Amino acid sequence: MLDTATRNIKFLPGVGEQRASILGGELNIRSLYDLLYYFPYKYIDRSRIYKVNELGGHLQHVQLLGEIRSFEELGEGAGRRLVAHFTDGTAFVDLVWFKGIKYVKNRLKVATQYVVFGKPSMFNGRVNIAHPDVDDASTLQLSSMGLQPYYNTTEKMKRHGLNSNAMAKLVHNLFGLLTAEIPETLSDDIIRKHGLMSLDDALRIIHFPKNTKELQLAQYRLKFEELFYIQLNILQYARDRQMRYLGHRFAKVGDMFNRFYHENLPFELTGAQKRVVREIRADVNSNRQMNRLLQGDVGSGKTLVALLSMLLAKDNGYQACILAPTEILAEQHFATIRRMLGDLPVRVELLTGSTRQKERTPLFEALADGGVDILVGTHAVLEDNVLFYNLGLVVIDEQHRFGVVQRAKMWAKNNIPPHILVMTATPIPRTLAMTLYGDLEVSVIDELPPGRKPITTTHIFRNRADSMYSFIRKQLQEGRQAYVVYPLISESEKLDLKNLEDGYKQLCNIFCDYRLSKLHGKMKPKEKDEEMRRFASGETQLLVSTTVIEVGVDVPNASVMVIENAERFGLSQLHQLRGRVGRGASQSYCILVTGNKLSEETRKRMEIMTTSNDGFEIAEADLKLRGPGDMEGTQQSGIAFDLKIANLARDEQLLQYVREVAREVVNADPERNLPQYKVLWERLRTIKNMKNWNWGAIS
Ligand code: ADP
Ligand code: MG
Repeated sequence: MLDTATRNIKFLPGVGEQRASILGGELNIRSLYDLLYYFPYKYIDRSRIYKVNELGGHLQHVQLLGEIRSFEELGEGAGRRLVAHFTDGTAFVDLVWFKGIKYVKNRLKVATQYVVFGKPSMFNGRVNIAHPDVDDASTLQLSSMGLQPYYNTTEKMKRHGLNSNAMAKLVHNLFGLLTAEIPETLSDDIIRKHGLMSLDDALRIIHFPKNTKELQLAQYRLKFEELFYIQLNILQYARDRQMRYLGHRFAKVGDMFNRFYHENLPFELTGAQKRVVREIRADVNSNRQMNRLLQGDVGSGKTLVALLSMLLAKDNGYQACILAPTEILAEQHFATIRRMLGDLPVRVELLTGSTRQKERTPLFEALADGGVDILVGTHAVLEDNVLFYNLGLVVIDEQHRFGVVQRAKMWAKNNIPPHILVMTATPIPRTLAMTLYGDLEVSVIDELPPGRKPITTTHIFRNRADSMYSFIRKQLQEGRQAYVVYPLISESEKLDLKNLEDGYKQLCNIFCDYRLSKLHGKMKPKEKDEEMRRFASGETQLLVSTTVIEVGVDVPNASVMVIENAERFGLSQLHQLRGRVGRGASQSYCILVTGNKLSEETRKRMEIMTTSNDGFEIAEADLKLRGPGDMEGTQQSGIAFDLKIANLARDEQLLQYVREVAREVVNADPERNLPQYKVLWERLRTIKNMKNWNWGAIS
């Protein structure tokens, strides 16, 4: 039988050496298999031709057959457009282009039969179609066509005759070679139970569907499979690990927890905090190692949950450790935790890169002999010479700066790996969390402590900055403080700094009667900490900064966050920055400053920011606007997404559904030896052996 995975694409009729090297270089298509799984990105319904006099604004995409009678160029500047008056004899419709006018004019001719495809809309009482696809009617075989596949191709491919039509021909040739049925890759019971199409049918139909109904079934089958194997992989990995590693059991809730909870806690826990503490408590009391992701919007009170968990460790005779991504944050945690514990007999220590050698020796000894109960630290804790007596719990704050590798390093600090609690304020949408951190259970704090006033967010244009300055001045007069943040524009650090320096100078002039701090990534950690301290203590009133302040810093007296060039930030980052204010009881404000000309997408982002304070809602919107590949956090974690057909933003329900299907398989067949699932485990192995495998964190 023909093995598509090993057969080089150059042997496919119509390809040859030169095209093979282009397909390989441009699209990474090297084998027949690669081509088989290169799916069309859209389809055009060629089964029906509409008449122009049938059109109205309500139709989805339509196909027309007729000719252009004349061209007209209208408007100026951004409104400049090319209009082609098109007719099939029943009526006229305007085809409109705002871009690529010259190209279109060169390519299209009057009095030639064209097939036009696009979405009609109404403008000034006339029907028009903006940026339609226009094909020479003679090149399309209309009568025989169902849905016509469209393949993405590159400029270079087009120059070598490999346009979408040519790709369709190659796929057609490929199916000519596939005389036998393509072997099934899901088990019979899954196919039957979930009403799936066979793989053979699905692959043929995804390239050449006759109608939308069968296309949808094919898409469903292929998405199902793609998401299923991602989840099977993650869940199997998580299960193996659970079997392999027992966890420390924290069986009791003891003195420290109880005394802290009943005597030291100055406020009542929120309902969400209580729920999460219960979830954690169930995990650590189960003989299994906990791996839990705690998501909670900025200010939702994650630190307290961490502290309660660490006290559980202490009560059961274990040490605990909390890791923060920066020294500033570690010091802040250290101070907060010490203050909250008051005179409870719990020894808390700090270890960062700046801890002096002569302090390290006694600290390391106390860690190794169990004298220290809670260690607060940065990356410095990961070093091999930091040894614990019996580390029972590790809390990792602001996970997205901490990769999978670092997590694994902490595991290795004990024979029995410690429980792991990962906390993040980057509200990763559930779908993404399941895929990125599918091996972690997820807890969510979806409630803010009472009494918080929602931050008022406004969007202003640069040329209205004067009113903003007087607003800031009022806040400063009331004793509040303010942040002004400039973006990092990665192409040029010099320019970034210039931006910041110019802004700083200007603000120094405007606010010459106040003291300003300046903070950027090029400063030494010591200088940064010093500036931050000056601001936190109220010595300076205005902090001008790049995004280095993004993570976790807590200055409750700050009430204004100005974000300059807000158009340059993604939604999640804007939300993170905004979260630096609104941490005290007073009303806080976030001001987004942009230029006057905004793209549609930017306008949407500003609108979402000014109307929503909900991090999860914003993260969902972000995922929809940008796609998961760009999500903050995914890049840092080094996890790429290469989904061929499923879409994490759109296929959330399906993802949750297949996760349960995969979980059933893992539970039913933990040893991976049931005959009916053999095909699944073999397929999973094959996928993971493919060169361009890059699903999820686990390989
Ligand atoms: P984050 O989740 O962003 O890390 P923090 O743990 O820093 O949030 O908490 C933000 C602030 O809210 C802190 O000052 C903390 O003391 C306070 N806080 C936490 N939980 C509660 C609660 N249940 N009621 C009132 N205030 C709370
Ligand atoms: Mg925090």
